[in-house]
Formats: sequence, C-alpha cells, structure tokens
Amino acid sequence: MKEDYYEILGVNKNASSAEIKKAYRKMAIKYHPDKNTGDSKAEDMFKKSAEAYEVLGNEQKRAKYDRFGHQAFDGGGFGGGGMNMDDIFSQFGDIFGGGFGGGFSGFGGGFGGGQRRTKGSNLRIRVSLTLEEIANGCEKKIKVKRKVTAPGTTYKTCTTCNGTGQVTRVTNTILGRMQTASPCGTCSGTGQIIDNKPDGADPQGLMMQEETVSIKIPAGVEDGMQLKVSGKGNDAPGNGIPGDLLVAIEEKEHATLQREGDNLHYDLYISYSEAVLGTSKEIDTVSGKVRIKIDEGVQSGKILRLKGKGISSINGYGKGDLLVHVNVWTPRTLSREQREFFESMADDENFRPNPEKSDKSFFEKVKDMFS
Ligand SMILES: [Zn+2]
Repeated sequence: MKEDYYEILGVNKNASSAEIKKAYRKMAIKYHPDKNTGDSKAEDMFKKSAEAYEVLGNEQKRAKYDRFGHQAFDGGGFGGGGMNMDDIFSQFGDIFGGGFGGGFSGFGGGFGGGQRRTKGSNLRIRVSLTLEEIANGCEKKIKVKRKVTAPGTTYKTCTTCNGTGQVTRVTNTILGRMQTASPCGTCSGTGQIIDNKPDGADPQGLMMQEETVSIKIPAGVEDGMQLKVSGKGNDAPGNGIPGDLLVAIEEKEHATLQREGDNLHYDLYISYSEAVLGTSKEIDTVSGKVRIKIDEGVQSGKILRLKGKGISSINGYGKGDLLVHVNVWTPRTLSREQREFFESMADDENFRPNPEKSDKSFFEKVKDMFS
C-alpha cells in the first residue's frame, strides 16, 4: 500500500499550491542527500517527497490523484516505479528557482557510490479504446518502434574519467581550494564509450527496432489518462537503463452510450402506444445487448437504473450503473382518423395529467441519481 501523498508532505487535502510547494521545499532541504550521506531513510524520504510533489504540485495530476488515488498514475498492473534522481533534480529548477538545480549538477555521480546510470528516453504512444474495452479492462498488443542496442555493439571504459562518469576539478578561490565535480563530457556521465558498433547503428550504438508490447489496460481508465510501462522506452547506451513507454488513453465515442464517470446513460425512445400499453426493449450495454421491460403507463422522463451495468471503478471499488432515460415519442403528424381519436380523448379523465406522489419530479430524480 502506497502512502498518501498529502501525508508524506504533511499538508492537508485543502492545502493551496503555495503551501504544497513550501512543504516540499522544506523536505527537499532537510532530506537532501548532500546533507545525509549514506542515510538510506533520508534518501527514501527525499524520493518519496519528490514523488508526492510531482503529483500534488501539478493541478491536473493533483485533481486526478484526488479522484482516483495512486491508481491514476500506476494504472494498477503497471510497475509504478519511483522517480530517479535525475527526475528529482530536474524538478528543482521549479522549486528553488533557476540557479539551484545547477548547483547539484555534480552530485548525480556521487550518489549511491557508483557512476550514474543514464536512462534512455521515454516513448509516447496513444491508445484508442472503445467503451467496452474501458468498462472491463483489456490487454492491447501495440507495435512500438524503440531504440535498442545494436547487436555487436561493444563498449569500453571511458579514459577521460576512468569509468567514474565524472570529472573533478580543483580551483583556487579566495575561500581556499574548491573541488567541484561535474559529469564527464566524453561519455556523458555514463563511464563508458563505444568500442565497436555495426553499420547502421547510430553514434551511441543504438538502432531502431519494431517490437510488439503488450499493455494491460485496467478497467475504468479515462480519456487523457497516462499509463506507464516501465522499461519499454528507448534503450540507453552502455550500462544505462531503458526509458519508459508512456501510454496516453483515448476514449472512442460510443454510438448509443454516454459516459459520466463510472455511470453510463442511454436514451430510450418508445412510441406513444408502447408507453400506454407497456413493452420490452433491447438496449446496448458494455457487455452486450440486454432486454428490459417497460411497464404500461410509463411516464416520459422516467429513469431506469440497471445496477452494476456501468464501468468498473479504476480504484477497484465496484461498478457504476447504467441509467436508461425513457423518452415517449409524440407523433408529429396524424391521419384524420388519429386526429379524431385524440380529439375525442381531449376531455377524457384517463388522459388528464394526474401525477402521484410516487411520480418524482425531474429535480428529485436528478438528486437521486447523484446520491
Ligand atoms: Zn567519461
């Protein structure tokens, strides 16, 4: 179970964005690895607070988190993965203002002891889903073109930095000798450079390859959500780790069903005679057609609720409903006989509106729907 982002930052759910920023800034300074060398608890807090701020510091992500919790970002079956240090430091420009992020540029190499592992770039794709696929979750096989290490590519230790990935420079200043470390320019901080690469590989020893990636889509995703498939982005050269595949969800419009959160709406039109005499109708649901019974004397505007026939909640808490709106179709033209019939009924007692207490008003129905 992941910890609550608000709790991690120690702010309440109504905190303003300024308060969130301030809370995170405090934590980033307190748990900064430079101050807590070798303290794995501090490192953990540092990463956790960065992850929390990544979400709560962004209005859109925060709204999604408030609504769906952690699932909104991890997409259930996906390895959520944390943020890596590079992600965290790139965030600092925003928090502390321009100069600050740069101040730590030499730091990446020192952290964790070894040289820094570069991460391959992320890939982004869109996946278009039908309402049926969204309702119950699905698995999509998608062809993705990603950069992979070309067969035959070999790497050797960078001689500029001896494989450490960073170069240190000693300068004399009025404050005394200062040692600064920065990523090695020759190997871009990876500690390795290309030894051999086959024809067709790019300067980093990578080549494009088409791969079929299987993506598990959890039920209840929404248009605009992004899922992450760890490690399916571009490979990084040498000993780096591959980037991620970011999957943007698109929702296809359904011919007859309209979505509202986890609930679905269906407009059912019945004839005047069907309303008077009662009928049964076949309607669309996300799991095939279903026949429903319409009682005789049904009023236009009645809403029938089919429990659990909506979308599975992305949090895994139950399912929405399907709300069938009954519309009685009034004939627009009449034959002479029909006209005479209706005229003869104009003063008939059975045709006079006589709503009972049980015939709820439109506003009461709407209230019911959202309760
Ligand atoms: Zn180097």
